[in-house]
Amino acid sequence: MENYINSMIDMRNKQGKLYKHNHVAIIVNDANNNIITYGYNIPLIKDNKIIDSYHAEELSILKLPYTRKNIKINIFVIRFDKNHEISNSKPCKRCIDKMKMIFNKGYKIHRIYYTNTKSLTVTNYDKIKNDTTTRYSKLYKMRHNVI
Ligand SMILES: [Zn+2]
Repeated sequence: MENYINSMIDMRNKQGKLYKHNHVAIIVNDANNNIITYGYNIPLIKDNKIIDSYHAEELSILKLPYTRKNIKINIFVIRFDKNHEISNSKPCKRCIDKMKMIFNKGYKIHRIYYTNTKSLTVTNYDKIKNDTTTRYSKLYKMRHNVI
């Protein structure tokens, strides 16, 4: 676990300090712990305003290659706040919806790990999908008029 956190901190450092919040997501093969893909949050900017963003989870899912091997994977999500402290990175509703693509690409989601200010939360796809406290991100709501 610590190793993943360290890899994600490295990835985040490579990303630079362009944004106020930095999210990193990795998708890991459960059998051998190899990182299959990763993603960062990337804001979409128009007229100097952030109008939307790719979430780290979304990009890691989009980059995931198709397989016929029914590979069991785990997802790790980490977020750093503006003070570069680890903070809550619970995947939003949009990203959870996108996780369907993981199954369509031939994988099975075993566990989902995301950071909190002090700890790492472990959950699974069914639990997080049915978690009624999960929300859309603020930007997404603004852009798509979701309440
Ligand atoms: Zn999201």
